Amino acid sequence: MTVVKRQPMPDAGATDVKALEPLLIELTRPGRGGRHVRAETSADIPPQFQRKAPLGLPELTEPQVVRHYTHLAELNYSVDGGMYPLGSCTMKYNPKVNDRAASLFADLHPRQSYRTTQGVLALAYELEQMLVKITGMDFVTLQPAAGAQSEFTALLMFKAYHAKRGDAKQRRRIIVPDSAHGTNPASAAMCGYQVTTVKSDARGNVDLEALKTALGPDVAGFMLTNPNTLGLFEERVREVCDAVHEAGGLVYGDGANMNALLGVARPGDLGFDCVHINVHKTFSTPHGAGGPGAGPLCVKKHLRPFLPKPWIVRENDGTYHYDTAREDREPESIGDSIGSVKQRLGNFGVLARAYTYIKTLGEEGLTETGRDAVLAANYLLALVREKYDVAYDRTPMHEFVLSAAKQKKQGATALDLSKALLDEGFHSPTVYFPLIVPEALMIEPTETEPKETLDAFAAALNRLADRAASDPTSVHDAPKNTPLRRLDEVAAARSPKLKWQRPT
Ligand SMILES: *Cc1c(COP(=O)(O)O)cnc(C)c1O
Repeated sequence: MTVVKRQPMPDAGATDVKALEPLLIELTRPGRGGRHVRAETSADIPPQFQRKAPLGLPELTEPQVVRHYTHLAELNYSVDGGMYPLGSCTMKYNPKVNDRAASLFADLHPRQSYRTTQGVLALAYELEQMLVKITGMDFVTLQPAAGAQSEFTALLMFKAYHAKRGDAKQRRRIIVPDSAHGTNPASAAMCGYQVTTVKSDARGNVDLEALKTALGPDVAGFMLTNPNTLGLFEERVREVCDAVHEAGGLVYGDGANMNALLGVARPGDLGFDCVHINVHKTFSTPHGAGGPGAGPLCVKKHLRPFLPKPWIVRENDGTYHYDTAREDREPESIGDSIGSVKQRLGNFGVLARAYTYIKTLGEEGLTETGRDAVLAANYLLALVREKYDVAYDRTPMHEFVLSAAKQKKQGATALDLSKALLDEGFHSPTVYFPLIVPEALMIEPTETEPKETLDAFAAALNRLADRAASDPTSVHDAPKNTPLRRLDEVAAARSPKLKWQRPT
């Protein structure tokens, strides 16, 4: 296998998207059209609701439209186009068979009766069972649409759990480590909790003594990622969970990093009360750019009553239904459940892809996946550790964190290096996260990259370290070969233009 480098774009180095591709509406020529099917539907619409003037859609031929979107797609970097070492995001290759399987369900309506969707319920039920086995938990809800929503769901359940024990009023605090993903404290705050941060120790673990000091009768729970966002296994995870339980709190497992543990360790055995799974990371469903995801929440028995409704029930005769309403009506009573966080089964297409991925790999394949992900990260680290500082000198799991502090002193920051990598034909790693590592470069190669690609990526990183030492300005000026150069990221986030406006 050879590694194909991306060619520089002919109009490389622009600073304005419009230099690359005009908007469809700007290509319009009155009277030009690409319609093949003419449907006469106005007969069904009462006259007062019928449109009086044309809609003003772009008038273009079909090939023009196809080329417009194809060109836009080509401007993007994707995991189908190259390595995507974005730490904490697990951008592994997404097998196409998953999409094929998901497309089988494309015509279903979200509120279709359980009577005509037995196969859908069977798939969802089986996926729940598989996740129970993988995580070592007891029950699952497939509803949450992302990891963050799963955190939110679980924390609402923590609240309901403490309320049931008459303890909710005083338990108003959630503790998170200082290495936590930003969604952890955000979800806790959204649930109305106060957030306390505990520091990490010199080995990159949660500082157990600091945690014990922070614990008390006002703590509802603790959120822990394992392996944590430094890519390190929490060495005292059992003691951590015991300490939280002793104080009457619950332990939330952020399972976004499950890739490293597949078939090797189960959060349920490590002491967690629940864990969320980012199927769009670990189980290879496409994600990014806000695309659909799914964050099933797996819980221990004592949290089951609080799970979102409806639940899928399998009868002894092998048929399935929703527990709340056989006739598909909304439930009258949902008991102790927190209610519903997303319609019925959540993002079913994403779940169907995850199901397919797990089924095609099987138990052995999943275990190999986890081991290969760890092997790839360790191999890559060995190739680059001479030229960069390593944040914590331990054997990492599926990802590792470098520090470009040395390069910053030479004149090239982590951001500069990440931009220069684009010119080398690679997507950037995650930068400036976790927050506790200065000039962090967080790299997660995943198990799906061949050795040649890992070698080429390491060579690129090492070349950049040399350039930072000899010619930092050239690193600072990157990227030069990408369709767009450095964008005003603050303006893009603070005042995005989401709507086309007719030029005045
Ligand atoms: C990605 C991630 C999340 C959030 O998941 P989303 O699906 O993006 O909401 C939470 N924690 C960690 C460690 C993650 O990597």
